[in-house]
Amino acid sequence: MNEIKVTLPDGSQRPLPAGSSIFDLAASIGAGLAKAAIAGKIDGNLVDLNTKLTDGARVEIITEKSPEALEIIRHSTSHLMAQAVKALFPQAKVTIGPAIETGFYYDFDVDHPFTPEDLEKIEAKMRELAKSDLKIERSELSSAEAIELFRKMGEDYKVELIEDLGADKVSLYTQGDFADLCRGPHLPKTSYCKAFKLTSIAGAYWRGDEKRAMLQRVYGTAFADKKELDAYLERIEEAKKRDHRKLGKELDLFSFNDEVGAGLVIWHPKGAMLRTILEDFERKEHLKRGYDIVLGPQILKTELWQRSGHYENYRENMYFTTVDEQGYGVKPMNCLAHMMIYRSQLRSYRDLPLRYFELGTVHRHERAGVLHGLLRVRGFTQDDAHILCTPDQLDAEIKGVIQFVTEVMGIFGFEFEMELSTRPEKSIGSDDAWELATSALLNALKDSGRPYEINEGDGAFYGPKIDIKLRDALDRRWQCATIQCDFTLPERFDLTYVDADGEKKRPVMVHRVILGAIERFIGVLIEHFAGNFPTWLAPVQATVLTVTDNQIPYAQAAFDKLRAAGVRVQKDFRNEKLGFKIREAQLQKIPYMLVVGDKEVEGGLLAPRFRDGKNLDAMTPEQFIAFIENEVKTYK
Ligand SMILES: [Zn+2]
Ligand SMILES: [Zn+2]
Repeated sequence: MNEIKVTLPDGSQRPLPAGSSIFDLAASIGAGLAKAAIAGKIDGNLVDLNTKLTDGARVEIITEKSPEALEIIRHSTSHLMAQAVKALFPQAKVTIGPAIETGFYYDFDVDHPFTPEDLEKIEAKMRELAKSDLKIERSELSSAEAIELFRKMGEDYKVELIEDLGADKVSLYTQGDFADLCRGPHLPKTSYCKAFKLTSIAGAYWRGDEKRAMLQRVYGTAFADKKELDAYLERIEEAKKRDHRKLGKELDLFSFNDEVGAGLVIWHPKGAMLRTILEDFERKEHLKRGYDIVLGPQILKTELWQRSGHYENYRENMYFTTVDEQGYGVKPMNCLAHMMIYRSQLRSYRDLPLRYFELGTVHRHERAGVLHGLLRVRGFTQDDAHILCTPDQLDAEIKGVIQFVTEVMGIFGFEFEMELSTRPEKSIGSDDAWELATSALLNALKDSGRPYEINEGDGAFYGPKIDIKLRDALDRRWQCATIQCDFTLPERFDLTYVDADGEKKRPVMVHRVILGAIERFIGVLIEHFAGNFPTWLAPVQATVLTVTDNQIPYAQAAFDKLRAAGVRVQKDFRNEKLGFKIREAQLQKIPYMLVVGDKEVEGGLLAPRFRDGKNLDAMTPEQFIAFIENEVKTYK
């Protein structure tokens, strides 16, 4: 056969000379496509660009713009890095080098830890190797041959990998004098690695096992072009500037203290104010939507945690204490007290749904290594609610929660994405119950009109859930809200209601949080706004600044008026230059500076200036109060 026919994604067929590769196909369609092509898909499987096509194949050309491209580019760049390391440090042993969400890494076994200077040298070598435009070629060989080859090269880790793989055949990718065990696919030539940067070095154990060798992990990132790389690096710089731990200190919001304990937040006046604003907001929003505010104790008897299953499944993360020979567990979750409230009366179907809301402070013993500022702590407060309803009501309840999330995230200016996790292999609850809960979650997702993903089999053993990930100003994802159906707790605590037919039935239980942990949410907010909180959230909304001492009596009277009206106001009457006072207020990211000079005293006015330097028209204190009240009301 001199000619083959392949099928393109749009269903069209294309004849090609026998022996043509995916690259040849791209070239036959157009020079632009040939230039943009980096790999391909045959019958749905990713393959190298120079893979030969067979008659009848379904082919897709992967270009730099394809969703699959980034991983191929990054993984290929990790090979390029390994090649550069081997060229500079021939005694280094290579291990693995996957693409990750932020770029790629490669782990090396070396005698001496890499230094930042080494990183520069490696990057320079990578550029040189990229420039020399080496072909990246795939070959297949038997596992036995591959083991012998890598053993000869002294690459013991590769030998171990091949042995563990236990396959008959493995594939090898070779570029210049460097060969690596790999499934592929890869870019066709080293020159296709156009935009990369090595970012950091860390220690990592071989296979994450602390009994095995300590390796050097070099992190880097790569993109299809320089523009995207630069934009990413800029975002990283910006993220560093916005780091909530740094801003938390500069704005005097919170601290951690070794004398107190790791992962335990100490809220300073401005941080506690910010928290209070959020908590007040939450109470109002929940009451508006028919939730009841409840409050449970911090410690509950150990026997209760045994009944709930927490003792059996979650004990390592809990704190316990014994008083008068009675054991207590500090609550890691708020559910139990809420169930006690439910059980305190005989419930009829007419009482349902019940929605119990608590700003519930919980403690969980997270490993020291995972603690991270406000984002991962050991003591935190959730905006936690439990909905108890009849099966018929579940649909509307879940829709209500998603609507709630949508409205609240809109106020903060977050976009979000949703994921549904369905029944895992090991689970409790009847097929009917799973079907009911899963379809309620799915209906609500469809109804929301937003895109969502389904993680098959990823739900908890006790019920399906929706995870909601919000997207911040730097396009980072943060897990905050969750909606979790639960079949165990109503069972374990024998929760019932009397239905219309007089029968006792089990209510459905939903655990849900909207912002999640307030601590974590504040961490996200700080970074999202870079500390420039909108007026309604700003712990200090305005500061009164005098030009000279002459204005102090008038300025003090204005300050008193504002504070009495509920404006969160501060004053700076120090005998300092106005420019200095303004700069300090700007560093504190206070939205409004109210300047008082002789002219303002004469006219009974304040001269507001926004933190970005923009001046507003002078206004009376009363007008400014109304202005702030309006901003707060409209969440500006
Ligand atoms: Zn590879
Ligand atoms: Zn719960």
